[in-house]
Formats: sequence, C-alpha cells, structure tokens
Amino acid sequence: MTFNGFLQKMRCQIGNPVHYYLNLSTDLIHVNGLLGKDIQLQFQHKITCHCGKEVDRVFRQNFCFDCFQTKPEAGQPIFFPEKSQAHLGIEDRDLEFEKRYQLQPHVVYLANSGGLKVGVTRKNARFQRWIDQGAIAAIVLAETKNRYEAGVMESALKGHLSDKTDWRNMLSEGDPTIDLLKEKERIAALLSSEQQAFLSDDNEVTTMQYPVNAYAKKVKSITFKKSDTIKGQLSGIRGQYLIFSDGQVFNVRSHEGHHVSVIVNA
Ligand SMILES: [Zn+2]
Repeated sequence: MTFNGFLQKMRCQIGNPVHYYLNLSTDLIHVNGLLGKDIQLQFQHKITCHCGKEVDRVFRQNFCFDCFQTKPEAGQPIFFPEKSQAHLGIEDRDLEFEKRYQLQPHVVYLANSGGLKVGVTRKNARFQRWIDQGAIAAIVLAETKNRYEAGVMESALKGHLSDKTDWRNMLSEGDPTIDLLKEKERIAALLSSEQQAFLSDDNEVTTMQYPVNAYAKKVKSITFKKSDTIKGQLSGIRGQYLIFSDGQVFNVRSHEGHHVSVIVNA
C-alpha cells in the first residue's frame, strides 16, 4: 500500500495506549496498526508551508521565510512565553491573535519524559501537549490567567530543572522513576510567595502509555536532510516520533509540510 501527501503533526487520541494517526493531509493512517510492519517514507523534494506556498526550505515551526518573519504563530511569545505582552495591550505581530492565544488559562506543569521537566501550555491543550512530548506522567504545578504569568514562573524554575525533553532517554526507555507529587511540593517551595498564589490544588498525576513493542538500547535521529528514504520495521510511536527496530527514530512534527510517499509492506 502506498499513501501520498505532505506530513502534518500526528493526530493522537488519548487512551492507554495512545492512538496515533499519521496525517498526510489527504489520508489519515492509523499508525498503531503498522507496528511490526516494514514501512518506508520517501521524500518527494517538495515542502508546503502552512500558508500553502511550496518552498525548498522551511524555518522554525515549518514556516516559509515570509511566514516565519510575519505570522503571530511564529512570534516571540510562542517560543518565549515570558515575553508575552497581550495582557498589557502591546502587540508583537497581531494583537487580536495574541489576545486570543495568550489571555486564557495556562498551566505550568511538571512531566516525566525521559527525565523531569517543566513546561508551559494552554490549560485546555495540556493533555495533547503531554502526549506530543512523550511524557509518561504529568502533574499541574500552577494555573495562571494568562501566558505571561506562566512564562515568568517557568523562567524562574529553569535554573532548578530542565525545560527540554531528553528525547534520547525518552525514546530508549530511559524514564527515571519520579514521584511527581513529591516533586511538586519540592518545586513549589522554590517559588516566591507571589508565585505560590498560582499553585494548583489539582494533584492528579496523569499517566500515559505509548504503543511501543520494544525500545532500542541506543537511538539515532534520522531526517530528510540526511536521507531521502527512511525505512525499517516500526517498533513504536511516542511523542511525535516513529521508532524503528534498529534504533532509528524519525520526528514527524519536525517534518511538517514535507511531501512523502508512505509505503507499507503487509
Ligand atoms: Zn508560508
């Protein structure tokens, strides 16, 4: 079977395990059903930006150069929540967009995705976010009214814990055992009294399981920059990664817009 289209972020359905769908803009492929099968992704040397323009090269968030320079979705507050200014009525690129995006409840969370990390996300997008990052467990540390307040808190915590996912650990079953409730208490004590006012009394630890038959001991990231053909036996899916039995891992999200043929050998 062959499917053609351009890659988008995998869609996921919360469950144990999580269900993933490869979104080829035309076809949705249920990836859990491909575990154990030989699959091949063939790059077609075309990339479509979110704006629909075909380009040779994309920048952060897979935007073409023009979009990367102008779209609010690629503005500073997206990458640096603490630089959000919509609450002050100050525009970065498009104040109406920024108000909609920033002026809504956000959470600062702690997650275990190959190690302890802190992150910020919109409250109603948190489960999606945790799955996209491949977290096996997460807890809400604090809830704020807007993106700025959450960003400032995350910044203050960066000296104490990582804000990055350790993808090598995450994809080779290197998750340490972490008591997130205990960590929440420990981290809460590091906050200023002003910030402690935002602490959430939601102490539920959300756990997630991923469809992974087997983890490789050592993983190696593969991209279309290195090779036009990516193939192997699919052994798992976690975060936005496809994991192959030989330890190769492919980040679907970082290839958004790339035109591919996906060939599945039955
Ligand atoms: Zn564009």
